[in-house]
Amino acid sequence: MELFSEKDLARIFQALAYAAGQHKDQRRKGGDQTPYINHPIEVAELLYRVGKVRDVNLLLAAILHDTVEDTSTTPEEIETLFGSQVRNLVMEVSDDKSLPKAERKRLQIVHAPHRSELAKQLKLADKICNIRDVIFHPPADWSDERRVEYIAWASAVVAGLRGANSNLEEEFDRVVAQAKPAIEKRDSE
Ligand code: NDP
Ligand code: ZN
Repeated sequence: MELFSEKDLARIFQALAYAAGQHKDQRRKGGDQTPYINHPIEVAELLYRVGKVRDVNLLLAAILHDTVEDTSTTPEEIETLFGSQVRNLVMEVSDDKSLPKAERKRLQIVHAPHRSELAKQLKLADKICNIRDVIFHPPADWSDERRVEYIAWASAVVAGLRGANSNLEEEFDRVVAQAKPAIEKRDSE
């Protein structure tokens, strides 16, 4: 069975090139300052490999998921280039940047159970990748306490996403189980 058409693959490459261009001057917050685009690529790869996601619009939305929140991209632009389903998915996982940060974080927990099944899977993959980053590529100025708090908050968001993709939920639980000992180990080195 052919999983992806030539048109699907062309859209995936177009999304990679587009997101790479939009994030070109950004770095992740980790001490190693990896290019920002590594993160959306990891999220899409995790959805495909661990989550077994084969919905091309969801994979496209994963590649594009931080463009509206973190670059000059507008929702209209996503719709023009990639269609309304991709636009809607990206907007479902984008915070409203006009709100204060604490409120945005609170709303992620409140909104999680009401997201679509596809958006829940994207959020799950995003949180898995961010917790991995907090363990293996932590922002240099983050205390232990802040890293542990981040994991607690992400776990509260994920509680509202459960039921959407058991493979990703199991992966999230594995990563969280690794997180605490990894943070303690790093500190004792
Ligand atoms: P931030 O929202 O500031 O940073 C986390 C976000 O940054 C991630 O969700 C991720 O989002 C992005 N990101 C980019 N690079 C990395 C990286 N290498 N590792 C992890 N994330 C990265 O964090 P919080 O404000 O949530 O801080 C965590 C906790 O600490 C909170 O509970 C907060 O209350 C508390 N806090 C503590 C402070 C202190 O000084 N003790 C100060 C401020 C907050 P994306 O996927 O969109 O890129
Ligand atoms: Zn992200």
